[in-house]
Amino acid sequence: MLQTENVQTIVKEQNQYFLSGKTYDIEFRQEKLKQLKQLIIDHENEIVEALYKDLGKCHFESYLSEIRIIKKEVDNTINNLRKWVKPHYVSTPIEQFPATAFIQPQPKGTILIISPWNYPFSLTIMPLIGAIAAGNCSIIKPSELSPNTSKILEQIINHNYEESYVKVIQGGKETSQQLLKEKFDHIFFTGSPSIGKIIMEAAAKQLTPVTLELGGKSPCIVDKNINVKETAKRIVWGKFLNAGQSCVAPDYLFINQSIKSQLLEAIKEVIKEFYGEDPSQSMDYGRIINEHHFKRLSTLLASGNIILGGKLIPEENYISPTIIDNITPDCPIMEDEIFGPILPILEYEQLEEAITFINKRPKPLAIYLFSNDRKQQKMILEKTRSGGVGINDTVMQYGVLTLPFGGIGKSGIGCYHGKASFDTFSHYKSVLKRSFWLETNLRFPPYQGKLKWIKRLLG
Ligand code: NAD
Repeated sequence: MLQTENVQTIVKEQNQYFLSGKTYDIEFRQEKLKQLKQLIIDHENEIVEALYKDLGKCHFESYLSEIRIIKKEVDNTINNLRKWVKPHYVSTPIEQFPATAFIQPQPKGTILIISPWNYPFSLTIMPLIGAIAAGNCSIIKPSELSPNTSKILEQIINHNYEESYVKVIQGGKETSQQLLKEKFDHIFFTGSPSIGKIIMEAAAKQLTPVTLELGGKSPCIVDKNINVKETAKRIVWGKFLNAGQSCVAPDYLFINQSIKSQLLEAIKEVIKEFYGEDPSQSMDYGRIINEHHFKRLSTLLASGNIILGGKLIPEENYISPTIIDNITPDCPIMEDEIFGPILPILEYEQLEEAITFINKRPKPLAIYLFSNDRKQQKMILEKTRSGGVGINDTVMQYGVLTLPFGGIGKSGIGCYHGKASFDTFSHYKSVLKRSFWLETNLRFPPYQGKLKWIKRLLG
């Protein structure tokens, strides 16, 4: 654990660095972003290796979900930064003529980024890109549960950036809490809703704004009007990617009764096609992060009837892709986010039943709907609330960097990605600039005799 004085010194030094004005310079920000991209390219193999050690993540998944997405985000940010930093001019009321008014994005100052273990590289670097682009200094606390990736993050950042500009601080919840005692200008947290509350409480003490990227149970509704095979492929991919440990993974399926058996057969087939007869032998299937989560997930297997999978290898923290049928809303598996490779099945006759069920529960990070029926698509968009919606696919909305990403209610506060990241880490300062030319003196006392002119001229 870090000494309190050390934490205080780093925060103080970052505040001083920020006040030096260096980070205001757009060239400086561009240079730091280009440097970040190059560092990722140079360390790609080590990052992939660390992700394999932490999560058994295969090279393909690591490249797509942790490296490529970050390179795309840096490129997009570098290409658009000059446009984003420009002031936005707005109209002014006639009584203030002559005047100019504009909204000027300004860096907030020193940012605290706290990240999780499931996509430990991309979920740490993604907010950092926004923080750098907006002209801030940053302290990063990666997850202690993905130690190999956290170590690489430390090496990449701390060996290449001045610590008074960007610094990785390692540690668990004690370190996190030590950091939270300091005054930051923004806290960006990705993790569980329960820890999100702790973060927000600590931030409230200092009136620090927060972005909370949290999780929850994202439902996946499957209606009749679909391509069964494609639907099965897209569900299986989104659910079992990273062994189900994705915040936007479909948590449970809500299937229209009339296609349930057909879809479940297709899902079983696809699982075999993707991961073979024995997924523990597949190079493309990951492992659960640690024993604690392995045990937590194992107890959830007691709900309903397992119709596929349910195989456990404790010494590897392996849980095979598992489908559980005959689930009722009060089963323990329907309480909290599963965050693992277990897919419970519920069924409905009318879409309204699924909507009512979802609306009785906390607002999810994502809702997925498989249906080609436009009326049903509209119904989901209008009658449910969630961070985002995916129609006829799962998880892919996360990769559209022009779409702000974030939750609502229990699944989060605020959003990021692309321009939304720049906005999150900027303060939009409203500026009014007046001229000394033309002063009517109408607003100044003594007011006697002026009201009728105000009413006549300005209304
Ligand atoms: P977590 O909340 O346990 O931990 C996240 C971070 O908080 C870690 O760095 C950890 O060290 C720190 N932390 C833990 N306990 C703390 C405490 N008491 N005080 C202060 N800091 C503390 O989350 P996790 O297990 O790492 O990640 C899984 C959760 O994150 C899931 O709920 C998942 O849905 C969510 N998640 C959300 C997103 C998103 O973008 N919305 C992305 C990935 C994961």
